[in-house]
Amino acid sequence: MFSKKKIQEIRDQFPILKKKIYSNSLVYIDNAATTQKPFQVIKASEIYYSTINSNVHRGLHFLSQESTFYVENVRKKIQKFIHAKHSSEIIFTKGTTESINLVASSISFLIKKGDEIIISYLEHHSNIVPWQILCSKKKALLKIIPINKDGLLQLEYFNFLISEKTKIVAINHVSNVLGIINPVKNIIDKSHEYGALVLIDGAQVPSSLDLDVQNLNVDFYVFSAHKMYGPTGIGILYGKEKILNYLDPYQTGGEMINKVSFDQTTYSDLPFKFEAGTPNIEGIIVWGEAIDFVEKIGVENIQHYKKELLSYAIKLLSRIDGIQLYGGSDLKKRSSIISFNLSKLHCFDVGSILDRFGIAVRTGHLCAQPLMNFFNVKGMIRASFSIYNTFEEIDYLFDSILKAKKFLL
Ligand code: PLP
Repeated sequence: MFSKKKIQEIRDQFPILKKKIYSNSLVYIDNAATTQKPFQVIKASEIYYSTINSNVHRGLHFLSQESTFYVENVRKKIQKFIHAKHSSEIIFTKGTTESINLVASSISFLIKKGDEIIISYLEHHSNIVPWQILCSKKKALLKIIPINKDGLLQLEYFNFLISEKTKIVAINHVSNVLGIINPVKNIIDKSHEYGALVLIDGAQVPSSLDLDVQNLNVDFYVFSAHKMYGPTGIGILYGKEKILNYLDPYQTGGEMINKVSFDQTTYSDLPFKFEAGTPNIEGIIVWGEAIDFVEKIGVENIQHYKKELLSYAIKLLSRIDGIQLYGGSDLKKRSSIISFNLSKLHCFDVGSILDRFGIAVRTGHLCAQPLMNFFNVKGMIRASFSIYNTFEEIDYLFDSILKAKKFLL
C-alpha cells in the first residue's frame, strides 16, 4: 500500500529515528506506550513559545485572544476528528488517566450502595483503579467481564452480568496488551438497554481506527495526544452534552466558574465547567499539528499499513521455537500490538538484550496486572508498530530475538 519511498519520507519527518542506541540504529516499536513526534509537532512547540504564549480566555489583549483562538480551534479540530456533535463536548484533560478519573469522580453522586460497575479483564490499571475506589467508597460492586484463552471478551457473560443495577460500563476499545479490538458498539447498545452509561477507554485508538463517537452512541470516550504523535500531558474526555451538564465539576477554581461570591458560586457552561485552572495551552496547540499530520496521511492508510506490519510480525515471530504469542490469530480483531514471551525466559532479560540491539520494546506487566495473572505470567514483551516502522525492522526484531534466545538459554 505504501511504497518504501513513502515510508522513508515519513520516517525522515521523525528526527529521533536517526538516533543510535549502543551504536545500533534505533528500532522504536514501543508505540503503544507513546509515539515519536514529527518535525511539525516539535516545531509547533517552539513557535508557540516564540510567538503566541499567553494565557487563554482571560485577557482582552491581542496575544491572549490569539492563544484562545488557537486552543478553541484545536477543540473544533478534535470535534471533527472524532465526529462529536458539539465542540463543547470536548474537555481538555492531562490524558486518558485523568479523563477516567474525572468521570469516576464527577459521576460518584449517582452511585449508591449495591449499584454495579462493569469493567473487563483486559483493562489498563487506569480503567480499573478509579472504579475500584468509587465502588469501595459507595459500597457498590465491581464486576469483571471474563475473557477466553485468546483474550477475547466473553460477551455471553457480559449479557449475564449486566442488569438494572449496572450504572457504568467502562471498557477499552483496543487492549494495550493484546491489541484486541473490542466489540464496543455491541457493549454500548446492550448497556443502554439497561440504562447504564458507557465509558470507552480509547487510549490505543486514535490513528489506529476511525472514530465516530456519535455513531458509537458512546456516553464518554477518552484518549491522550501522546499516542498519536502529539505531546504528553494533554488528552480529552468526550462526553455527551446532556450528561456532562448533569455531572458535578471535577476540580474547582479559576476558569470553571461563572460567578463567585461567599454565599454562592455558579459554574461555567461546557466545556469550561470541567477545565479548572490554566490548561496545557502549548500541549493543546501542538496537538493540533499532530492531528494535521495524521489526517494528511489518513487514518485509514495508517490503519492499513499497521495491519500489514502486524500480520508480517505475527507470521515471522510465530516461527520462533518456544515463543508464546498472545491475543489469538484473528487479525481482523487485532490492532498493531503483539505481546509475547520466550520459553521460560524472564521478559526483562529478553527486553534488555533487545535494548542492546537498539530495539525499544516494552516489558513487564504492561499496566495490566490482572491480565498477567490470567495468563499466569509475571510480564510480557510487547512490540507495537506505528506508521514509521518497516518490514526490515521486523526482520531485525526476529533475528535479535533468536540471538537473545541463544544467549540466554
Ligand atoms: N488505557 C490504555 C488502554 C492505555 O494503553 C493507556 C496507556 O498506555 C492508558 C489507559 C493511560 O494513558 P495515559 O498514560 O496517557 O493517561
